[in-house]
Amino acid sequence: MKVLNKQASDGLDWLYPPICEICGLGLSGSKALCEPCAERLPRIAPPFCDVCGEHFQGLIDGPFDCPNCKEISFHFEFARAAMDRSDSTLELIHRLKYGCEIHLGAELGRLACRAFADRRLEVALEEKWPLVPVPLHRSRQMERQFNQAEEIARSIAIETGLPVSRLLKRVRRTETQTRLSRKQRMENLRGAFTLREPFPETPPPGYLLVDDVFTTGSTVDECAKVLRKAGAGRIAVLTVMRG
Ligand SMILES: [Zn+2]
Ligand SMILES: [Zn+2]
Repeated sequence: MKVLNKQASDGLDWLYPPICEICGLGLSGSKALCEPCAERLPRIAPPFCDVCGEHFQGLIDGPFDCPNCKEISFHFEFARAAMDRSDSTLELIHRLKYGCEIHLGAELGRLACRAFADRRLEVALEEKWPLVPVPLHRSRQMERQFNQAEEIARSIAIETGLPVSRLLKRVRRTETQTRLSRKQRMENLRGAFTLREPFPETPPPGYLLVDDVFTTGSTVDECAKVLRKAGAGRIAVLTVMRG
């Protein structure tokens, strides 16, 4: 089967030679971005909020108040996005999600892996925390035919050797959240997720929730709440971009 797939993809390469999805330069191999374009996408570097990963401009001395995290406590320890918001990264994410360009999942997963430069994530690699993609509702997944978070998690798994666990299920289809405030998002998401399968009797030391974008954190927090209630130990969040 693998051989056939390889032959099929070699054939496609001949028909449609792979090009960089940003600059259009010809590529060899299975990447979707050329090295210079991938390097140019802005990644999050310190200083950033050590809870939600929001990047701050300039120098910060001492503790700072993050506008996103002020007066809230999440059910996860911290969220780390690899990439800072930029039109190019957002466009790649939108093309994966809404343009059905499923091959971009692999590239976005590789971009997400840049977050492992964060020392706090070393323990996840050492202890092999499962990657848990934020699930889509069955009806939405049928429309889209795939779950972008799962595609990204699969790619991270290939790069890191971490297992993927589809432990969560979305039981309620929620309306799109882009125009909602944090409070409205929280209302909108209450009870939207549950466990897909029984929680393991001897759970791993931690879980890494995976999603495409972290905006207010309401979605991943609702997922973390379910894992926490089920008895999960440590929970962190990994996303491609900070929205
Ligand atoms: Zn390029
Ligand atoms: Zn924050």
